[in-house]
Amino acid sequence: MTNIVLFGPPGSGKGTQAARLRDKYALLHVSTGDIFRAEIKNNTPLGAEAKGYLDTGRLVPDELTIRILEDFVNRNFRPEHKGIIFDGFPRTIAQAEALDGMLTAKNMPVKKVLALNVDDDEVTKRIIHRGKSSGRSDDTDETMVRKRLQVYKDQTEPLRGFYQSQGKFTSLDGEGSIDGVFELLCEEMDGIAV
Ligand code: AMP
Repeated sequence: MTNIVLFGPPGSGKGTQAARLRDKYALLHVSTGDIFRAEIKNNTPLGAEAKGYLDTGRLVPDELTIRILEDFVNRNFRPEHKGIIFDGFPRTIAQAEALDGMLTAKNMPVKKVLALNVDDDEVTKRIIHRGKSSGRSDDTDETMVRKRLQVYKDQTEPLRGFYQSQGKFTSLDGEGSIDGVFELLCEEMDGIAV
């Protein structure tokens, strides 16, 4: 099993690259952001609970996030999947610990954390650009974008040390073209013994 965490700030290209890696390596793609947006769109109780957090750029509480993540994996993981690519999860130490517990119980721990490094000005530009076509309300307002970057620094950046201490963390330059960054990711994937 090749379980990978794609790590990086909002706008670093995680979603785009995760979809490509999913196709090339037969992985289940798990994006907690996508799950929340689908629940909100479908007007489910979970969507109602999550909406206020997404609308204000804050993290959905760990307990709820971990529950939906586990439920999604249990419902969608198939024998043909060669692993899971996590995109936008974990975002806190508590989530990373819960993920370790869940995957250890399934005997398939995280193999590697691949981090896309993109600086603040560049991610801000990319997100605002994405907002023009996606219509995501959290992507169109620069104040909200800055807020999400701050949340990332405060709550998610510490995961770098968490995974470094497990010897799983690899940093990559995420500022190249989509194809260029994909190539860097594939080199890492191909270097993982499966
Ligand atoms: P994303 O699409 O990954 O940028 O996520 C959009 C929003 O969904 C975030 O700003 C959070 O409000 C929420 N969200 C997504 N993933 C998580 C997570 N792992 N933990 C908490 N909140 C999350």
